[in-house]
Formats: sequence, C-alpha cells, structure tokens
Amino acid sequence: MYKILFFAIIFGSITTSSNAQHKGCNTIERGPKANFLASTSDTTKPRGLADNYFLWDLGSVIKVKFLSGSPYLQDRIKTYAKEWEKYANVKFNFVSSGNADIRVFIGKGNGHDSYIGTVCKQIDDQDQTMNIDSADVANDEAFLRCVTLHEFGHSIGLLHEHSSPISGIKWDKEKLYTEYAKMGWSKEDVDFQVFETYKKSYTNGTKYDNKSIMHYPILPGETIDNYVVDWNMQLSPGDIALIKALYPFKGARKNEVTRLNIQNFKGISLVGNVEKMGISLFPSFDLKTGGKGGIVKMIFKFYDEEGYGLQDEDGTYQENGTVATVRSVLLPANKVVKYNQNGKKDFEFFLPVDQLPYGALDNNMQITFKIVYTTGEGELKNLYTSGAYMFKFKK
Ligand SMILES: [Zn+2]
Repeated sequence: MYKILFFAIIFGSITTSSNAQHKGCNTIERGPKANFLASTSDTTKPRGLADNYFLWDLGSVIKVKFLSGSPYLQDRIKTYAKEWEKYANVKFNFVSSGNADIRVFIGKGNGHDSYIGTVCKQIDDQDQTMNIDSADVANDEAFLRCVTLHEFGHSIGLLHEHSSPISGIKWDKEKLYTEYAKMGWSKEDVDFQVFETYKKSYTNGTKYDNKSIMHYPILPGETIDNYVVDWNMQLSPGDIALIKALYPFKGARKNEVTRLNIQNFKGISLVGNVEKMGISLFPSFDLKTGGKGGIVKMIFKFYDEEGYGLQDEDGTYQENGTVATVRSVLLPANKVVKYNQNGKKDFEFFLPVDQLPYGALDNNMQITFKIVYTTGEGELKNLYTSGAYMFKFKK
C-alpha cells in the first residue's frame, strides 16, 4: 500500500500518443503512405459527407501558412484554395509568419492529406496539418488544382465522397489490398481510407455524388461490377451546394451540433489529496463552444510509461477497461468557459489511488485528456484529444 504524504508532479508534453485521434484524409492519388491519424465523421442534411463537429464558425478567417515549397507552388495553391471562398462563408488568410491554423507542408514523398476542419487546432503548432506532394504536382497544373481543392475541402470539414454509405460501390477488395500494398499501405489503411463508409443516417437520405472533388477515382478493374469513376478535376454542383449549405453567407447553419475548441491550454496540475486518498487533477484551459450546447464527457486516461493503458480491475473509474476519471459536463453554446484559469482551482477530476495497479506509482505514467460526445445514434465522437503527458510521483 502506498502512502501518499506528499507528491509533486513533473510533467511535460511528449509525443502525441498511440491513441491520437482524427485520422485525416489521405491522398487523392496513390501516393506514398501518408501520415495517418484517426477520424470519425458525420455529415449534413443537404448531401455529401462532412464532419459537422469540426466545421468552422460562419465567417471564420482561417490562417494558412506554408512551411515549405517553392514560391510558384505556394502561389498556385493559394489561388486554387480560394475557389472555396466563392461558395463558403469562410476566408483563407495566407500568412508568412506567426501562428496559423492550417500549416501546409509541400515536399516529396508525403502524399496528400489534411486534417478534417478544425481538428488542425488540436495539432502541435510546429507540425503540418496538410501535406501536398510536390513530386505529384510540380509539373501538372491541373492535378495541382485538383489536389488543392480536395485537401482544402477536407480542411473546411468535407469527407471522402466514396465513403458514402449509399454509394453502392462494390470494391474488389482483395485486388485493392494488393494494389495499395505496393504503395506501402496496410490492409487497415485501405479499409479506413477506401472501404469504410459512414452510417447511413449521416447522409440523411440524400444523394451520392460521384462527380465530387472529394471522391477518389475508381479505375477499371477496381470494382467487381466494372463501376468506374474518373478523376474529378473540379468542384461539382453537388460540392458547391453542400459547402453553401454548411457555410451559408446569409442566416444560420441548419444542422448545428455541439462543437468546441480548447484555447489557452496551460497544462494539468496533479495534486496528491491525502484526505481523500487519491489524485486530484486540474486541467487549465478555456473552452470555446460553437454550434449548440450539449453534454460531453471529459476523460483523463492513465497509461504506463510505454503508453499501455493501466488496467482497470473493478469496473469503476475506467473507460474501455483502462483506468480513467470521467466527468459529465453540460456545455453552453457559443460561449467561452474558463476552467482552472488565473490560479483558480474550480474544476477538479479525482482518482482514488487504489484504482492504480500495484506498482504504478513507482514508475513514470502518462495521461491523456479527451472530450467525448455521444451522438443521437449512440456513437462516441471524440471532440478533443490531447497528446500524452508524462509524469511521476515523488515519494
Ligand atoms: Zn482526401
């Protein structure tokens, strides 16, 4: 039995852990394997697939910065990206210094990908949130435009149209596993990027658009019924209708959901609580909410030094079998809520020390913080996922 008389916490940000969320898109092209992160998705009523939980506020000015690339490519990408501004009530503000929401890395060998919508705000400032592969686009203006429209489509919340559950695409799966394996994709990569479809209710019974810029091409032989989709090189009427509905210039967005962003994150203070025989956690941040209010779960999960979840033994203080402390919080819409800011300790999470496996306190541990929303369909939607924080108790 450990005696907690006093302990201080050392913590710092390490790598984003193995359970990082929000898989971005991958390439529109069969490029090299991209840098995947997770994803979950949703859609809108009018048609097409977009992740409502990560849409930008109407009228947002989204800062974009290039981390690399020739002035020529940068200039072209900037021009093509701005096509979306004609139809969506957002602006891309390209900056050359300071912080930016979207960080575009132009280089060889990364493929093309982007985080979905505002997920980029959860990524470390120094990391790119979008890759554009110069090897594919440097000498192909039309393709550069197509890639730019596709990736910037993701950056304002659009998802792959071939993932529509009503597409009816009959992939030749074995063949595609073999094809994509040549590009270094695992079976899981192909399952996620190509075969996965979203729940049917996400499409709200609307149409599948095989002319969408968000659709991968389907080449001859990739389906068992010879269905093919050509390279879509421009925004389809469906793309335009969808983005206008998601980002109307007049009036409010019709299908708002609970959206949020964490700002001014100052860290997590962990304090040994002798009276209660446990650990109190005080995360310090502002929560900017958009859309509409709702109840979310805020969850701290505990891992060992290597990132393996500490196993729960009694069914309490856990999430999916990993030791965790959870709070349900009712969020207001369109507010900034402050938690444990300005030296206050007004928002506490607690974990009884006997919830930790024997020996855990002797070693480095990691925690992650996430905010989860349960949708009307009972799907768990990660609205925010932190990186992992390493700490160790001092005895
Ligand atoms: Zn994509």
